[in-house]
Amino acid sequence: PSSNYEMTRIKIGSNVHEFWYFVNSELNKFKSEVVNYSPLLASKLEQVISETAEHKRSLVKDLGSLQASDSFEGWRLKESLDLSDLVQRRLEYLQNPSDCRTARKLVCNLNKGCGYGCQLHHVVYCFIVAYATQRTLIMKSKGWRYARGGWEEVFEPVSKTCTSLEGASISSWPGHDDTQVINLPVIDSISPRPPYLPLSIPKDLEPRLSRLHGDPIVWWIGQILKYLFKPQPKTREFLNKYGEKINFQKPIVGIHIRRTDKVGTEAAFHHVDEYMAGVEEYYKQLALTQTVNEKRVYVATDDPQVLTEIQEKYPQYKVLGDPSIALTASVGRRYSESSLMGIITDIHFLSNCDFLVCTFSSQICRVAYEYMNTMYPDASARYRSLDDIYYFGGQISRIHIAVLPHTPKDPSEMELVIGDRISVAGNHWNGYSKGTNLRTNQLALYPTFKVVPHVETAEFPTYPQVPL
Ligand code: GDP
Repeated sequence: PSSNYEMTRIKIGSNVHEFWYFVNSELNKFKSEVVNYSPLLASKLEQVISETAEHKRSLVKDLGSLQASDSFEGWRLKESLDLSDLVQRRLEYLQNPSDCRTARKLVCNLNKGCGYGCQLHHVVYCFIVAYATQRTLIMKSKGWRYARGGWEEVFEPVSKTCTSLEGASISSWPGHDDTQVINLPVIDSISPRPPYLPLSIPKDLEPRLSRLHGDPIVWWIGQILKYLFKPQPKTREFLNKYGEKINFQKPIVGIHIRRTDKVGTEAAFHHVDEYMAGVEEYYKQLALTQTVNEKRVYVATDDPQVLTEIQEKYPQYKVLGDPSIALTASVGRRYSESSLMGIITDIHFLSNCDFLVCTFSSQICRVAYEYMNTMYPDASARYRSLDDIYYFGGQISRIHIAVLPHTPKDPSEMELVIGDRISVAGNHWNGYSKGTNLRTNQLALYPTFKVVPHVETAEFPTYPQVPL
């Protein structure tokens, strides 16, 4: 397929949702304005809202069958396998130098004082720097808060040939080309800041990725996680047994409900009904193309109450989730070594779901989404975030490019000229996004369907030693 064909297809998919967010949100506003003096009008509006959702589902279904019958599905699958294979082989090559005594190394300390998702993202960042500087990543993980013995207690080592921190010369970042060992600081304090950090993807992969995937950076991060997540045999066995125990089966929607310390500090509270509305919508959509005998939902949370609440309020659902995991996830217990298998399990099963409903403000939700993207040619639309758009901590901001002009109807809205670049703050999931127009410096709202995402690239080594 031509790039233009694939990008247009992906764009129509996202615009169908934007259209629906817009109409849904506007009609709900009217409804709440009139409900007190005209219940009749309010119920009429309710009817229109529900019919609009049916229109949307029909469009989504037709787009799905267009994709299934346009004869490129085979290509999509093969291209995604080839691309993943290429990146995995490059990482394999980088991580297994023939002589560790002379290999150039980048040292990454897993023991960043934060949660599991945050620590994983830290390692992902280290790995990207390692790939960009062609240095073997050495992971320092002894004394890890989740497993004293380190990473290798649960996952395979990141190298088979080279794990020693030793070297003839050692320096902190940035060091020199010929410095053998460089210690990397956390992403927020790296200076000078190299151009290849997220949201940049390798320039040599960009043309292929832009054609394949709705959000190439998520694919790229997912590939790094794919390399990292190689469970030790006993971890794999644990996950398999657990899957059997809870009878994990598709179709299934994963929800992650982050509560406790996150609420009110880093994120807003979201009621279980908001998550379940996303789940319900997924199943209504699915019912148009297949018979759904059982509606399953996998629930991961750090608040054990949530499980009981969902089970009681949604008896028509089969709720998969473990209160004892939720308990080890709660504040005060979560960094104990007994919480590690719980968080590994939750991320594993969330990312194996067909669809995710969660808050991208949480690193757990983002890790699950990133990893989910290694399992499909393009899983960039298999989520509903109740708050943020996707981001990588410490990233340069996302850029949208205007493809349609916009005349503001009031001062809260942005003027758009085709080609304008906007630094994105967020999507309000009501048809509008917020951001700063880099031409006018105006911080305002703009209709999301009038822009397309810009894919950021940077020069990375192209690993000619690894065949294409
Ligand atoms: P964030 O704070 O949500 O952005 O994610 P972090 O991973 O940085 O820190 C939260 C920590 O709380 C996790 O690493 C887990 O230890 C724990 N946690 C939060 N939510 C869950 C969950 O759904 N399941 C499990 N098992 N642990 C969780």
